Amino acid sequence: MFSKKTIFVNEIPIGGNHPITIQSMTNTDTLNTEKTIRQIIKLANAGADIVRVSVRTLEDIPSFKEICKNSNVPIVADIHFDYKVAIESIKAGAAKVRINPGNIGDSWKVKEVVKAAKEYNIPIRVGANSGSIKKEFENSNMPRYQALAESALQEVKIMESLDFENIVISIKSTDAQENFLANKYISDKVLYPLHIGITEAGIYEDALILSSAGLGALLLNNIGDTLRISIAGDPIQEVLVAKKLLTLLGFKKGPRIIACPTCARTEIKVEELATKVKEWTKNIEKDLNIAVMGCVVNGPGEAKHADIGIAGTKTGGAIFINGEIIETVPENKLEDTFKKYIEKLI
Ligand code: SF4
Repeated sequence: MFSKKTIFVNEIPIGGNHPITIQSMTNTDTLNTEKTIRQIIKLANAGADIVRVSVRTLEDIPSFKEICKNSNVPIVADIHFDYKVAIESIKAGAAKVRINPGNIGDSWKVKEVVKAAKEYNIPIRVGANSGSIKKEFENSNMPRYQALAESALQEVKIMESLDFENIVISIKSTDAQENFLANKYISDKVLYPLHIGITEAGIYEDALILSSAGLGALLLNNIGDTLRISIAGDPIQEVLVAKKLLTLLGFKKGPRIIACPTCARTEIKVEELATKVKEWTKNIEKDLNIAVMGCVVNGPGEAKHADIGIAGTKTGGAIFINGEIIETVPENKLEDTFKKYIEKLI
């Protein structure tokens, strides 16, 4: 495993061996400064490290400037088509710009954007998604994932030809397998950090499942330095899901509630108790594996990797630590006693 280049978005590092960062994007009208700032603060409080804002035309710039000034996280300007908007966004305080050199047009325009990014020392995100594969690659014989990755690589080469390496690459597809293969392909070729995501992943449940599978495959292969989970609707959900995914995969500190699926041996209300445990521990930021198991026959053994757990018995529950039972409690004291033990560990 080779180490990636580290890129800074204000003070937030992306790449190297730094923690994977969570991104989201506002869906308020950029011209509505106050509403956009409020949404950014909510996203940051939910766990977003970096937030992207669309800057559509020069008309958005004054508001964008205020947004950058009042944000508690770095703001990325999302730009399409107009190089002047990219330059003005940089001057207005963008911590990074996302452009598609292909739709910015003439190379001198891209050059001007790069010049501004150099002057203000901010990175540029370049890349491609499944809807913007370049014709020359799409019409070639190469598989689609490769065409997608080569499209992104071409953007990278444009940046490098301008002597600019302060870049983050993003390749996104709506197809999880294509997304995986394209990111794997590019990660074998370059050392720039990768922004990963499944694009247009759908509404809540579909987006959650598709993104977890698609991004999970990448993350478990050590691919991906920053991510966005795309969900149609309230962007707060994107951040909460991203945080949960990173915690459950072990890339971010946090509680993990292990609960057995229940069966005929189940002696306690597993789902109900596990839900309570989740609530008790929702704000902790340390690693803690807590198990709620239905029976004492298999419970402690199956969950022996948990820091603490409870397993149902005929009369209540047995509390165990590292697989060893330390106390058995009657049903009426089960919840309170378990909670006290958990609190000691928080
Ligand atoms: Fe069934 Fe016990 Fe396993 Fe839960 S821990 S699924 S109750 S055998």
